[in-house]
Amino acid sequence: MEKPYEDINLIEFQSKYKTEEDCEKRLFELRWPNGYECPRCGNKEYIYLPKRKLYECKNKDCYYQASVTAGTVMHRTRTPLLKWFWAIYLLVTDKRGLSALALSKKLAISTWVAWTMMHKIRKGMSDRDTDYKLAGIIEMDDSYFGGTREDDKRGRGTGKTAVLIEVATNDDAMNYAKMTVIDAVRGENILNTINGNVQPKQVFKTDGFSAYNIINTTDHQHQKKVVKGKKAHTVLKWVHILASNAKSFLDGTYHVTGKKHLQRYLDEFCYRLNRRKWEGQLFDRLVTACACSPGVTWAELTS
Ligand SMILES: [Zn+2]
Repeated sequence: MEKPYEDINLIEFQSKYKTEEDCEKRLFELRWPNGYECPRCGNKEYIYLPKRKLYECKNKDCYYQASVTAGTVMHRTRTPLLKWFWAIYLLVTDKRGLSALALSKKLAISTWVAWTMMHKIRKGMSDRDTDYKLAGIIEMDDSYFGGTREDDKRGRGTGKTAVLIEVATNDDAMNYAKMTVIDAVRGENILNTINGNVQPKQVFKTDGFSAYNIINTTDHQHQKKVVKGKKAHTVLKWVHILASNAKSFLDGTYHVTGKKHLQRYLDEFCYRLNRRKWEGQLFDRLVTACACSPGVTWAELTS
C-alpha cells in the first residue's frame, strides 16, 4: 500500500519543526516506523545517549550504537538537523530552482555547505525516482543542454550535452518523465536508458532518427514517425514541452553549462514534475526519500 504522506504548508512546517529534537523525532519515525529495532541484532530495547544522539542497543552481547542519520543523506553531518529540514523544505517547494547562494543566506551557512547539502538532497530525489519505472505510451527524444539555442541541432555543438527525455503519456496527458544525460545519441545508450527506466513491453514513440531503431530489438513496440523540421513538435509534443521547461529552469537559476552535475539538476526538475499532483506533500515525501538515501559523498561531488 502507498505510504500516506502528510500535507504540510509553511505555517505548519514552522510550528512542527522548531528544534533539533523535533527533527530527530521525525527521522526516528522514518527509520523505525514500528519502534526502535537494533540494526545489528534486532533487539527492541535501547538507551538514548543524548550528547552523541545515539541509540544504544541494550543487548549485553551487542551494545550497537545507531543514529537516525546513519545511512541517510545527513550521514555524519555537522550541520544542525533543523537547517537540513529547512533546506529540504525550501528546495522542494521552489519551482523556479533555489540557488546555493540564496539558501546559504537564508540558513546562515556557507555557500559551499549549502551547495553540498543541496546535492545530497538531490541524490535523495534521484534515488527515489530510480525506484519507479515508466509505463504506457512513451514519447522519447533527445535534446541538447548548454551552449547556445541557435546551435540546437542533433549531434552538433561542441559544448552541448545530450539528454534523452522519456515521457509516459496516457490519453495524450502526461504522466511521469525521466531525463538521462548520455555521452551521445547511440543505440547502446538508448538501450541502457530504456532498460533502466521503463517496465517491459511498453510502446515507444520516436522520430525517424536511425539510432532509435534499436528499440525494435527489444520487447517494446516502436512507433516511428518521420517528421521534417518544425513539425516534430506535433508528434512528440510532451518531450518538446518538457525540454523547453527544463532548459528555462536551468537557465533561470543554475546556469548549468557543464555536464558533471546536469543529471542531478534534471533529477530535481523531474522529481517535482512527477509529484505535481501532490504539491502539499512535497516536503514530507522528500524528507522520507532523504532518510532512505545513502546520499553522495564530498569526494563524489568534487572528483
Ligand atoms: Zn543489538
